[in-house]
Order: sequence, then C-alpha cells, then structure tokens
Amino acid sequence: MNDKLYLIKLGEISLKGGNRHTFEKLLRENIREKLSECNPKFEYQKGRIFLYVDQDTPDEVVTKALSTTFGLSGWAKAYECEKDEGKLFGKIDEILPCLSFKNEGSFKIDARREDKSFPLSSYQVACKAAEVVSKHYPSLSVDLKNPTYTLFIEVRQKIYIYTEGEKGIGGLPVKSAGSALLLLSGGIDSPVASYLAAKRGLKLDFLYFHAYPYTSDEALEKVKKLASIVAPYTSGARLFVLPFTDAQLEIKRKSHVDETTLMFRAAMMESAEKLSKRIGAKAIVTGESLSQVASQTLDAMVFTDSETEMLVLRPLLTYDKEEIITISKRIGTYETSILPYEDCCVIFSPKHPLTHPVKSIMKEHYNALSLSSEIDKAMENMMVFYYDEWGKEVDK
Ligand code: ATP
Ligand code: MG
Repeated sequence: MNDKLYLIKLGEISLKGGNRHTFEKLLRENIREKLSECNPKFEYQKGRIFLYVDQDTPDEVVTKALSTTFGLSGWAKAYECEKDEGKLFGKIDEILPCLSFKNEGSFKIDARREDKSFPLSSYQVACKAAEVVSKHYPSLSVDLKNPTYTLFIEVRQKIYIYTEGEKGIGGLPVKSAGSALLLLSGGIDSPVASYLAAKRGLKLDFLYFHAYPYTSDEALEKVKKLASIVAPYTSGARLFVLPFTDAQLEIKRKSHVDETTLMFRAAMMESAEKLSKRIGAKAIVTGESLSQVASQTLDAMVFTDSETEMLVLRPLLTYDKEEIITISKRIGTYETSILPYEDCCVIFSPKHPLTHPVKSIMKEHYNALSLSSEIDKAMENMMVFYYDEWGKEVDK
C-alpha cells in the first residue's frame, strides 16, 4: 500500500465493554470529517486504529486533525512492511533517516511479536534492529530504562514500525454523550468550558446573548472568533445569537438594582431551555465556577437552576481562574478572550449584586417580570452562524 500511515492509540475508549465499537465508530467519523480531502481509510486491530491517508498529505494536516480530536491518547507516524525478515530490516534501514533520531543520546528497541509464527523472537528482532540503528547513529548508546529515542516494532498481520509519537488530548469522541447547548460569552471561561464539555463526548451548539448597541459589533465578532477557535475540538458547531437588548432593558427597568444580574441570568436559562427544546439539546452548559463572582455563589446557582427544568452542567465548577487560563492558552482562545470588548453582563451589572439570594423570593420577582414575550421575540430574530470541523465559517 502506498499511503501514509498513522497508528492511533485509543484512550478511555479501550476501557469500554460491549459498546466500544460505537465509540470507535464515532472517533473514526470525527477523524474522517476532518481529513475528508485526504481519502482516509481505517483498519482496526486490537486497541489500535491504523489510519491511511493519501501519500501527499502534509504531516501538519494530520497533526492538526488528530491533536484536536477527542478519544485518542496518542498517535505516531508509522511504517509497515510484509512479515518477512529481510524486508523488516531493509525497511528500518530505509526509514531511519526520516525519523527524529539524532546521533546523540540513547535508544531502545521495543519489539513485540503478536504473531508467534514469525521466525524471530521479540528479542532477536530487537537485537537485529539495534544493529541497523547503530549503523546509522554510531554515537547512540542502548538504554532500556530511560532512552532518548524508542523504536517500536510490532509483528501483527503485517509489521508496523513507529516511534514515540505525539500525545493526544484524551477524552471521548464528540457526539458519544449526546448534544448540549453551551452559553458562550466573550470571556475566558466559557470557551474553556466548551473544550471540557466536548472532551467528555458532548456535541455542542453555542448560544450568545447579544445586547446591541450596549454590546458592540466587535463583541459579537469576538464571540464568533472564539466559536471558530473551539470548533475543531467540537467537530464543528452552530452559534446562535439571540438579540437580548429588549429583555435586558425590561429587566433593568422593572427589577431591584441588586437583583438585575440574577434576573438576567434567570432569563438566560429560560431562553436557553426554549432553544434547547427546539434543537434537541439535552443539557445546558455554562462557564461558571463556584464563587468566582456574585452570580456564581451556591445560592445564586440554586436560584438560576430553578428557572429551568433542564440539567445544567458546569465543567469549570471546581477550577481556579489560573487553571482556566492555562487551558485557555493551550487551546488558543486566551488572546481573543482578553480583547477589551465588554459583554452585556458587565454593562448592566449593579455595584452591589446580591450574593445570597433567597430562591422563593427571587422566583416571585422573576415571575413578575413576565419576560416570555421579549424572549419569544428574541427567538424570532435569532441569527445562526455555522462553523465546520476546521473552524471555518460556512453557509450551512
Ligand atoms: P466568561 O469568562 O465565560 O464570560 P464570567 O466569569 O465572565 O464567564 P459571567 O459573565 O457571570 O462570568 O458568566 C457566566 C457564564 O454565563 C459564562 O461562562 C457563560 O457560560 C454565560 N454567559 C455570560 N454572559 C453571556 C452572554 N452574553 N452570552 C452567552 N452566555 C453568557
Ligand atoms: Mg462573561
């Protein structure tokens, strides 16, 4: 076969029982979508997936696809040859210059003979392969405990040769846990929450509450940019933009000033539930972290959760800001999140927001606002943006 080959190591999927093939199928589908132009083909063998792509596929394309896909613990560029002694050592000789080995440090050969009919034992394969490595890199010493480089050789249906490779982002394949609606603001937290929710296999759509002109076009552009950055992790996404100005002005006009933020958050839950029901999302996800701000105290969450019958997931509940920032930098959202365009919460937020609201009283106050007509009107005027699995905005 003249294709390029990558060996994909499965993460948590390999611990699954009878339903493992469902997870594997989703993983393959998610990879296939990203690499559709490279003619991907898959072969499955004992806890590993072998991915073949067209020979001229740049390594960077495969790296970008696999490094943003949940469900794999790692991958390595691999080489294969027929189960023949001569061909094996010839192949090692041929590929060694293409590997990342340098003539300094140490190496180890990790040989495994799954197919016992192969005439050489694992030990014999390792010794002979080591001779070939030493021919190319005479200064490399052998170190079985802590080598600089490891060359893996697996004798299976064919022989596969590969090196350490790259670490994957773990998790479970997107779509394996069903779908949810994530409230995406322009801040640091919610894009990170989307990464973590997708990591556990949720298929996400995003909802942004836009209070134009109190929040600017730039604020919307920022949220769109964040959606496009996380879309490779979520295997594409839709961003729903709900014009929320009228609802917010109504809240500001009718509520006690200290309660406005919580009323706004309750209205967000009511709207998110309506949209979730329309699009079939089974849960609402937010970027809240316990006690980070006034609206995220336990009492505040008890109240806002009571305004929806849906399950509300908060992947960042126990994360410190610093931990959130670290992930945000790693996934590439941080620089966009810290751009200065304020979101509506900030503009409408009171000086002394309530931190320990009493649920029963707040529910009464919220009901008195009767926001359904504002929310329904907002839903009628909702905009939708679509992002493909590479984060590109597309028509549909
Ligand atoms: P973030 O950094 O994600 O903006 P935050 O710490 O600023 O969060 P809040 O503004 O209280 O906290 O928002 C808490 C959560 O509510 C956000 O993480 C997000 O899920 C949701 N949220 C807040 N504002 C909006 C908005 N304008 N549109 C959609 N969701 C929002
Ligand atoms: Mg915010």
